[in-house]
Amino acid sequence: MLAVMRMVTVDGRAGLLLDDEVWDLEQISGGAIPSDPLVVLSVYWDEVRRLHQQGTTGAGVPLADVRLGPPVPRPPTIFGIGLNYRKHAEETGGKVTWPPAVFAKYPTAVTGPYDDVILPASEQTADWEAELAFVIGRGGRYIKAEHAYDHLAGFCAAQDISERRLQYAAGRQFCLGKSFDTFCPLGPALVTLDELDDPADLPISCQVNGELMQSDTTAGLIVDVPHLVELLSSIVTLRPGDVCITGTPSGVGHARTPPLHLKPGDLIETEIVGIGQLRNRCVAESP
Ligand code: ZN
Repeated sequence: MLAVMRMVTVDGRAGLLLDDEVWDLEQISGGAIPSDPLVVLSVYWDEVRRLHQQGTTGAGVPLADVRLGPPVPRPPTIFGIGLNYRKHAEETGGKVTWPPAVFAKYPTAVTGPYDDVILPASEQTADWEAELAFVIGRGGRYIKAEHAYDHLAGFCAAQDISERRLQYAAGRQFCLGKSFDTFCPLGPALVTLDELDDPADLPISCQVNGELMQSDTTAGLIVDVPHLVELLSSIVTLRPGDVCITGTPSGVGHARTPPLHLKPGDLIETEIVGIGQLRNRCVAESP
């Protein structure tokens, strides 16, 4: 069995990333698998895994010649988890609770792994948050932690860009400040579990303009991925393509003295070892 499976999108079409080449899934399946990544995740995921194990012949498109989009361009729901690394809870003065703080990020915020983050003209306090994201493959309700991995399509890196003034403007109601268009870069690929050495212990980091701002491992998660699946599915029916961003390590800008915020021209590099790197340039919203 091939260890590596990475699903990507190019122009909204699902593809497999193999040896630095992108293979369009609809093409290599002879039309048996459609191009829509959400339909692929919902209906054809097992076939994609089989196709991937068989291998492909022919030619893919070199990765350098395409621009990757988010692996899940239109997640039905994006769940965000607040204060899920202890040092981040400490730096923000927040309390670790059970259940953890859960918020929504509107799916329209999703953007690609190398796309620009548009800083809203109306606000001045945008901030970075590097996060591990998991993507649901097989949905369901009341999923026990021990069965959670059977329901995951895989993982990707995420940025939970957060406009701090707006985030705190309505008490603990986070979703507006975290949902501006382009505030959720995802990617660079949806990586299946079998590729990762240990999904519970992956180095995660964020650099801004080459300066290391956040560095931890996903072993620092207070509520781990299986228990997040159990918690969310005890309340909400999880659907294929749902994304959960699992919380950010310490080192965000607004917890610094003085606070740091993103400005036009800044380059945010978010990396999870074993998954990949997002590179997003901040630009000013054009009037
Ligand atoms: Zn976050």
